[in-house]
Amino acid sequence: MHRAPTQGIFMTDNKYSKIIEVIKKARRFVVVSHVNPEGDAVGSLLGMYLGLKGMGKEAVPYLEDQLPPLYDFLPGSKDIVHTLEGVKDIDCTIAVDCGQADRLGDNFSSFKEKGVFLNIDHHVTNDNYGDVNLVVPEASAAGEIVYDVLKAAGAEITKGIAINLYTAIHTDTGSFRYSCSTPEAFRKAGELVSAGANPWDISVKVYENYPAARFKLLGRTLSTLEFMNNGGIAVMHVTLEAIKSSGGTKDMTDGFVNYARAIEGVEVGVLFREVKNNEYKASLRSKGRIDVSGVASLFNGGGHAHAAGFSIKGTLNEVKAKVVAELEKALNEQSAGQASRLSNEGTR
Ligand code: 5GP
Ligand code: MN
Repeated sequence: MHRAPTQGIFMTDNKYSKIIEVIKKARRFVVVSHVNPEGDAVGSLLGMYLGLKGMGKEAVPYLEDQLPPLYDFLPGSKDIVHTLEGVKDIDCTIAVDCGQADRLGDNFSSFKEKGVFLNIDHHVTNDNYGDVNLVVPEASAAGEIVYDVLKAAGAEITKGIAINLYTAIHTDTGSFRYSCSTPEAFRKAGELVSAGANPWDISVKVYENYPAARFKLLGRTLSTLEFMNNGGIAVMHVTLEAIKSSGGTKDMTDGFVNYARAIEGVEVGVLFREVKNNEYKASLRSKGRIDVSGVASLFNGGGHAHAAGFSIKGTLNEVKAKVVAELEKALNEQSAGQASRLSNEGTR
């Protein structure tokens, strides 16, 4: 039976109508996403940018950080700018895939000509920093929400947009493995493939095209593995020296933390990446027993139940001790809760 394309399930929410109204009215846009950009950030940014252009709007795609070279293949990527100097008369700025305004970057925060500030995101920890906020935690990727918004605004989903939004969903679902791989995510991905996104082509470009230096760095990083909490927590670290001596760059560490979580018996994988002396970027990955976005929030970070992160100051040993203590607490509270639920069930 032929099934007519439905509107996204999220579209029933009238939060969308305000966003669509602003987008339809505005003429000049800035589109922005977070520092340390990854697949969903870049794909959503460029999908929105190309959609706006297709609707006859002017748009500037902005990222504070350089684009990791592996995303150079994304249509529109060469238009990304890293400064907003001289950009003015903007009617509307759209942030995608970013839970906290400060993650858009220090330079972006001094950009005063935002116009109406739209916040389109899927992080549960989003703090609603926009003038209008469209936060949909059920969406696997910000790319899903961008897709719904563009369709509702009447944009044509071109091949270029499809490649970007498919990449966003593909990367944020861990290639359709994570628990956020809902029927809706698969349905949209299917529509994007129909619109011209080629899954194998995109997979090769994102996952089978790494510079050799990444594997040297991965080898170094795996050799730092330590286990805590009877093997329930696996911790690794990357130093600036390791990045330099392997000939790599910081963005190559994206995905390393998954190796720590992938070990039998491990509930939470942790990666500490040195940013500068006595400052680390922490990445947390949970198999599901605990919500790591809650732990990340304790350190002024955020994310999702299974994947979260934050920045933290101190020596490696200090940050490790602090973070592991919070994770152990969360794991212990979860076990205690489960034990008491089980004993209650036993008395029924
Ligand atoms: P990653 O560990 O890959 O950097 O990030 C995992 C998840 O946590 C992503 O959804 C990301 O947006 C979020 N995240 C990572 N670092 C930070 C941070 O410093 N602050 C906040 N609020 N979220 C973060
Ligand atoms: Mn995302």
